[in-house]
Amino acid sequence: MRKLEWKFDSSWGHFENLSANTKTMDLSSPIEKVPRIGPTLQKRFRKLGIKTVKDLIYHFPQRYEDFSNFSKIASLAAKTNVSIRGKILEIKSSLAWRKRMTLTKAVVGDKSGAVKIVWFGKPYITDNLRIGNEVIMAGKVSQGKEGLYLNNPSYEKIFPESDLGQSKVAGLMPVYPETEKLSSRWLRGIIRQVLAQILAISKNDLQEILPESFLKEFNLLPLSKAVWQIHFPDSLELAEKSRKRFALEELFLIETFVLKERIKLLQTKAHPILMDVPLIKRFVESLPFKLTNAQRKSAWQILKDLEKSHPTNRLLEGEVGSGKTVVAAIAALNTAKAGFQVAMMAPTEILTKQHFKEVAQMLFKFKLTIALLTGKEDKIMAKKLKGEMIEASRRKILEKCLKGEIDILIGTHALIQDKVKFKNLGLVIIDEQHRFGVEQRAKLLKEGKEKDLPIPHLLSMTATPIPRSLALTIYGDLDLSIIDELPEGRRKIITKVVPPKGRQKVYDFIKGQIGLEKQAFIICPRIEPASSAGSPKRRQFTSWDRVKTVSEEKERLSKEIFPDLKVAMLHGRMKPKEKEKIMRDFKFNKINVLVATSVIEVGIDIPNASVMVIESVDRFGLAQLHQLRGRVGRSSHQSYCFLFTDSPAQKTKQRLEAILKSVDGFELAEKDLEIRGPGEFGGKKQWGIPDLAMTSLKDFALVEKVKQSAKAILEKDPYLKKQPLLKQRLKRFQEKVHFE
Ligand code: ADP
Ligand code: MG
Repeated sequence: MRKLEWKFDSSWGHFENLSANTKTMDLSSPIEKVPRIGPTLQKRFRKLGIKTVKDLIYHFPQRYEDFSNFSKIASLAAKTNVSIRGKILEIKSSLAWRKRMTLTKAVVGDKSGAVKIVWFGKPYITDNLRIGNEVIMAGKVSQGKEGLYLNNPSYEKIFPESDLGQSKVAGLMPVYPETEKLSSRWLRGIIRQVLAQILAISKNDLQEILPESFLKEFNLLPLSKAVWQIHFPDSLELAEKSRKRFALEELFLIETFVLKERIKLLQTKAHPILMDVPLIKRFVESLPFKLTNAQRKSAWQILKDLEKSHPTNRLLEGEVGSGKTVVAAIAALNTAKAGFQVAMMAPTEILTKQHFKEVAQMLFKFKLTIALLTGKEDKIMAKKLKGEMIEASRRKILEKCLKGEIDILIGTHALIQDKVKFKNLGLVIIDEQHRFGVEQRAKLLKEGKEKDLPIPHLLSMTATPIPRSLALTIYGDLDLSIIDELPEGRRKIITKVVPPKGRQKVYDFIKGQIGLEKQAFIICPRIEPASSAGSPKRRQFTSWDRVKTVSEEKERLSKEIFPDLKVAMLHGRMKPKEKEKIMRDFKFNKINVLVATSVIEVGIDIPNASVMVIESVDRFGLAQLHQLRGRVGRSSHQSYCFLFTDSPAQKTKQRLEAILKSVDGFELAEKDLEIRGPGEFGGKKQWGIPDLAMTSLKDFALVEKVKQSAKAILEKDPYLKKQPLLKQRLKRFQEKVHFE
């Protein structure tokens, strides 16, 4: 059995007689198997993405609270961080700040004296703490008008009987992110129990996957020690060391994965597609506008890629409205004229139609057959020769496609998964997909490998501004082209931060714009009010609930503010059909005001919209705000963006300052990275990057070192024959990255 390098304290004794289930528990067991986790808790865990024992063990604390040295209350001094131990003498909640926030005040006393405690926005505290409770508190001492007080301290209730995870009151306490009503105190207990069982029972679980050399090079703790120490550290240094181990493990996996993908691409064949310079010149001259330098440069890079005999994997990044479509059209034209077919995909039907219209418009002079394949309408339109439209059945398109009679086929992302067969597909273009075609490429690669055939080149496009540094780390297997300038003649969007009292004025302004036949977007951070957030009383008290929601705003605006206008809503939980209809109606100005979440289709072009209102701006990252703002100002008329905030926080103001000043999405993205860290980039889910790795991504020197190390390991052992566990883990990692 594994020799454990740490001591369990005596309170372990009473787990011995827990249900027999625990004896057979291993890492892959579902959490249902853990005693004391019933259906309600399972549901909460599931919301956090915790399904198995392993997920639970890998649910790491956010920070630690040092409860080892208690200060005497009488000797507290302002501006110091302290832990105190005492009894609750008073406690009471009330509403503050025009009833937006719960204010909880308490007094805690020990033998030496008593001190005031203040919490903001934590209505549940009065449910947990009562007069007479023994508590320990840790936090910062502040100087108020009426003396010293502890500001928003974390706390622990001390129970008379020995309780799970509570046995050791002094020392470092893990603090977990408190979401879904799972308290740190409770998590601490359950994780301790489960982890002890796992470490004691299963011999084959929790095996080291990192190569010796890597552990040594970075001086990392072995897995089994790190996993214990990250939850229940003996010292802050050990906690930090454990954290570092997991962060580097994730980074190592990412880098190894990326390198392996790159090697795979280099080993795969593709048809080289030669650049036809006179053709491209003719095309560029035929455009009604002049290409920007950034567009030229990107097009050149893409065309150069296509000439290679292994598949391109390039990401074209450019702000909304920067003109990516025309760059894609250049690549498509060159490919089609060289005798290969092109598949062009976008996430929604309405976007594919937009592309079809635009691309057909640009390319019909070049005598190409361009088809639109829409799932439900089951027909195509081909713009051919002089530009007349031909309707055809879906079956007919598929037939023509297989025969190579369609040069450019435009459809949704499902195109490639569908039964669509090409005669000689040369290039796949994917628009506005966050995963940048990883999935599609995996499929293409697999097919190419199975049949030992050349595979198509892949070009993905995104309007999400990812700082180059970050993109190269995460997607090091991609080549990157950036369109970092907007076409000439675009008007600057007038952006204003609006305090609550300015709200009515903005609404009046919107009415004026709609009178001029313009349209408005109103973006809210949430779809519906927080679901079942406890009793009605509690809901009323929670500041989180005050965040604007799409459903409530739509009601309010259409009834109270714009009763004469057509107000509609759009969000990710609606059916695709409904969404399409709303987008179509908005596009054709049958809707005046659209209330939506930030997930409204990114690429959609509504040049007629001139006002963008963003509610609860504190909930959005800068780059995201900037992107939302980019949905207006897409024509030559003046557009406006209003940022609504209730937050008096200095940080909010500072942050918004940046967006008022800057119109450069990349600059804002770098700022976001600086202020909030990479984890905030449009949601982690989008990136599929584990939290811990995200934090270390900020340290580019470290990332580079890890990359070099991964490279060295792969050079010696390209198929990881000596590292079967690592190989296995990478495979799972790959699946996760691809299909998350
Ligand atoms: P996005 O990068 O958001 O996909 P689009 O390709 O849809 O942007 O381009 C937005 C609009 O700008 C389109 O109407 C397009 O015709 C126009 N456009 C593209 N490039 C230029 C340019 N260099 N000068 C002027 N207008 C341009
Ligand atoms: Mg686009």
